[in-house]
Amino acid sequence: MSLYPEFAVYAATIGVIWAFYMGSRLRAEARSRATKQAAAEAGLLEPASLHPKIDPLKCIGCGACVRACPEGDILGLINAKAELIEPSHCIGHGACKEVCPRDAITLVFGTEKRGVDIPDVAADFQTNVPGIFIAGELGGMGLIRNAIEQGRQAIESVRKRQRPRSSDAYDVIIVGAGPAGFAASLAAVQHRLRFLTIEQDSFGGTVAHFPRGKLVMTKPATLPLVGKLNFREVSKEALLKVWHDIAQKTRLKINYGEQVETIKNAGPEFEVQTSRASYRSSAVLLAIGRRGTPRKLEVEGEDLPKVVYRLIDPQQYQGQHVLVIGGGDSALEAAASIAEQPDTTVTLSHRSEGFSRAKLKNRDRVAAAAKAGRITVYLQSSIKRIGRQDVEIEHDGRQIRIRNDAVIVCVGGILPTAFLKSAGIAVETKYGTA
Ligand SMILES: Cc1cc2nc3c(=O)[nH]c(=O)nc-3n(C[C@H](O)[C@H](O)[C@H](O)COP(=O)(O)OP(=O)(O)OC[C@H]3O[C@@H](n4cnc5c(N)ncnc54)[C@H](O)[C@@H]3O)c2cc1C
Ligand code: SF4
Repeated sequence: MSLYPEFAVYAATIGVIWAFYMGSRLRAEARSRATKQAAAEAGLLEPASLHPKIDPLKCIGCGACVRACPEGDILGLINAKAELIEPSHCIGHGACKEVCPRDAITLVFGTEKRGVDIPDVAADFQTNVPGIFIAGELGGMGLIRNAIEQGRQAIESVRKRQRPRSSDAYDVIIVGAGPAGFAASLAAVQHRLRFLTIEQDSFGGTVAHFPRGKLVMTKPATLPLVGKLNFREVSKEALLKVWHDIAQKTRLKINYGEQVETIKNAGPEFEVQTSRASYRSSAVLLAIGRRGTPRKLEVEGEDLPKVVYRLIDPQQYQGQHVLVIGGGDSALEAAASIAEQPDTTVTLSHRSEGFSRAKLKNRDRVAAAAKAGRITVYLQSSIKRIGRQDVEIEHDGRQIRIRNDAVIVCVGGILPTAFLKSAGIAVETKYGTA
């Protein structure tokens, strides 16, 4: 008799815990569905590069992969199975695969619908073109630590292959100053190679373009000349500062704002043509990542320093007249976040009739800001000229001239495949395979 009340208390406690667990699980599942739907509406269901493919027959819905992903809402549980809910934000950490107790996750490139071009690279980082090497994310393997390790190792391979060269030629030209190009440049200093590093943008590669304050998840990596960097979690700014200090102390010279346009075989050497000059080199190391080169507008005034291709810090535009061009998420996010800064005027120009390729939440943000008079939107418009203090926009058959201090162009990028092929590098298109 006396057991009954105790049993009832146990049963009620278990019932409450169960109800609480089921409630939170259902809420999480509803959030996952909403995130996946928003990504689908924005046409963002294709991961950029390496990403998890989940075998639903093996998945038991434990959620370990969802919790392990350092980037947040990339994976979610739907119908008690793990799914990619925000595929375009996946950067290939692979932490999900490591924790899966059922081995249900494979890391793959591309999907059945959209192939991803991966260059053929041998174990010594050499491509099918003898003397052209590839390190870092371009070869398919993402993450800062991998890029650093590969940059260092690729220079070891370049050194082993070293050939006699003409007196004005380099031993190696390193293209790109992201983590792979940075580590490779330090290794080239260490081995006393005659080298040149060329970067179309600025120091740090993709890391420099992470959002302000982003927590970078990484693993300890060894930088040539410096030794082991023991970072696991560090802010983007702190990481870049450490790299900058190292670059200064080692007097690393990098040609910034110079783009490599073509690489041609010229006898035993390569002729590397850039936006500024032509160089000769025995070997070339491509550390150009996979993000590509920002697409340009090709209008008068685009070369003015006020024109940039990515928003890094909205606060820097306080008190300015800013024009944002584009209709995707990055354009809408840039316009909305700058419009929140005091004393700014923001104009958003897009060539199409709507923002169908952007997520609903960003469309809503821009619509609310436009309604509040903080953003002026010109759809079906095009930029005709960029002046020092103004810009000209064509809209509805009219030429509109507005005051302007800064222009942010977010009209996508040109992927490196054509550039690789023009250098003779073999590229394989992968459709959801490792
Ligand atoms: C939003 C986001 C968050 C991320 N978070 C993390 C994280 O937390 N932890 C982590 O480990 N990784 C993270 N990554 C991945 C990481 O940034 C990349 O794997 C890494 O930067 C790759 O380094 P890389 O040197 O190979 O290429 P990149 O960093 O992309 O650098 C390539 C450089 O080459 C230059 N370049 C390209 N073409 C040319 C040309 N023709 N001429 C001259 N220069 C050229 C580019 O301007 C660029 O500076 C993240 C990526 C993104 C997009
Ligand atoms: S960790 Fe593996 S089994 Fe668990 S939810 Fe993720 S994919 Fe499924």
